[in-house]
Amino acid sequence: MTDTTLEARLADRAPSYSAMLVRRVAATPDLVAFRYPDANENWVAMTWRQTKHTVFELAAGLLDLGLQFEDRVAIAGSTRIDWILADLAVSCAGGATTTIYPSTHDEDVAYIITDSGARIVVAENVAQVDKVLKHPELREQLLAIVLIDGTHDDDLIVTWDQLHARGKAYLAEHPNAVDEAIARTTPDMLATLIYTSGTTGRPKGVRLHHDVWAYEARAVEVMDIIDQNAEHLLWLPLSHVFGRVLLAAQLQIGFRAAVDGRLDRIVDNLGKLSPTFMCGAPRIFEKVRATVMRSTASGLKARISRWAFSVGKRRFALLQQHKPVPRTLAAQYAVADKLVFSKLKARLGGKLEFLISGSAKLSQQVQEWFFAAGIPVLEGYGLTETSAISFVNHPRTPRPGTVGPPVPGTECRIAEDGEILLKGPGVMRSYHNLPERTAEAFTEDGWFHTGDIGEVDADGYLRITDRKKDLIKTSGGKFVAPQKVEGAIVANCPYISQVVAYGEGRKYISALVTLDPDAMKGWAETHDQGKLKDLTYRELTEHPETRAMIQRWIDRGNERLERWETVKKFTILPEEFNLDAGEVTANMKIRRSRITNLYAKELDSMYEAEPE
Ligand code: AMP
Repeated sequence: MTDTTLEARLADRAPSYSAMLVRRVAATPDLVAFRYPDANENWVAMTWRQTKHTVFELAAGLLDLGLQFEDRVAIAGSTRIDWILADLAVSCAGGATTTIYPSTHDEDVAYIITDSGARIVVAENVAQVDKVLKHPELREQLLAIVLIDGTHDDDLIVTWDQLHARGKAYLAEHPNAVDEAIARTTPDMLATLIYTSGTTGRPKGVRLHHDVWAYEARAVEVMDIIDQNAEHLLWLPLSHVFGRVLLAAQLQIGFRAAVDGRLDRIVDNLGKLSPTFMCGAPRIFEKVRATVMRSTASGLKARISRWAFSVGKRRFALLQQHKPVPRTLAAQYAVADKLVFSKLKARLGGKLEFLISGSAKLSQQVQEWFFAAGIPVLEGYGLTETSAISFVNHPRTPRPGTVGPPVPGTECRIAEDGEILLKGPGVMRSYHNLPERTAEAFTEDGWFHTGDIGEVDADGYLRITDRKKDLIKTSGGKFVAPQKVEGAIVANCPYISQVVAYGEGRKYISALVTLDPDAMKGWAETHDQGKLKDLTYRELTEHPETRAMIQRWIDRGNERLERWETVKKFTILPEEFNLDAGEVTANMKIRRSRITNLYAKELDSMYEAEPE
């Protein structure tokens, strides 16, 4: 494809997210758009035509509540069909969605609502409503809180059924209201405001305009990765860009999605619903692997399985180096497939063509396991600020260990210090109300600083090698600012001198802790009538009662953190960090990578024998 044809193909896109829905419904009105479990756990199908009907009603309901152009509507809830309908309705009414994870603490909920200036909150259930109502100062700004499940007697509440009814009545009086709102929506208008962690302080709102979604969706379509016959098992949190971009791709391409955000159902849902692909953060693929491995843990079955995977891994290693697979190995693989992999694939529904992993680094071990079994896991890369997909591997030409080539229309440059810089229609224009942070995020000639370090090979495939910004990404794809965690733990505990939070690519956060010698001496003298007062500092660091005391402080610190930020395990070190060993700088700033290397054994041990 020449560049001009590519450009022309990419330019052929809808002006807005809402217009994408209209185009989709016009193209394939009677195809199934979504499948979802109803209240009785029966899976129900919804066509594109039905989707539009419901969305228009809800959009009219929002207009009736007084929603104006580009007004923000915060959606607080988990992944389910109603989230998708609410988001589409916001867009069709000319509003912009801002997203709140169901697990977000009420203070951060209040912060997002205030900072985004949201006029309406769509809350999944009473628990989400209560977090908003805990902050009476928000009342003045809010037109309503729309409650999806259940009822509530607060004056601000409008139930889901009431919103439908108001929408129906509004449409009877203003039949063209929603079509007109869609027609007035332009590519530059704000579509989505997603909050992402900064290295310190409050989350930053990333302003994503309508065209980023139209572009991303069209770019995925042009890459020809997914076709209209595909079915996606959508469990990803829609509060994050990765989930959101898949909805855009779905509108553009017209594939189906089976929607169920409950993590503990993923393996069952794969088996029951037979999707053709699934996307996720590495943690999910770790879980799927662990669930399957548990079922073949012992006996002959386990031995055959081990043999099959060793054959699969040898084959994978050759594929990874672009080398041909010798005939004997190919024959062994055929047997392994018959005995083990075909059964595994059947367990996962039998139709999975590939998996897409993004949001955090995928471990070689997990990638190898799936590839060995004949289910490619394609790694991709992007940020909230680049609308999720900036690079992705193609199922026909995957290069494990890389995140693939850039999506068409996106350009990449590696700065002198190795930082990945990006440019393209998927990149945000600004952070919300943060002009200085916006200016810092771009070079003078408009390249976006990703804060990640990488290398590009001769064919344009990117390998992420490190991170420049001081953030941890867990294997669940959650950003954790180590300073926030460390600050929360150290803040009130007089006995801890330093904490180093760790968890890059891991399931949870753990910490290395050092104790303050003077404070510990004082504690030992008074604790339990001074029974530990004769112990040395080192002995104190190893004593179970010290550990129990520190655990209580950590529990207290954890209360101030989001669930994924909490310290699940810790190790007390026998000495404080040392300048001579290079563990801290002259002004006592922690040298994170040095400490991670020095204490690799202690850190690894905090992830052993953990239930998946
Ligand atoms: P978010 O804004 O939450 O999507 O986080 C974006 C960040 O996640 C990137 O800047 C990377 O640090 C990290 N990330 C995303 N995908 C990958 C990947 N495939 N490998 C390594 N890091 C990744």
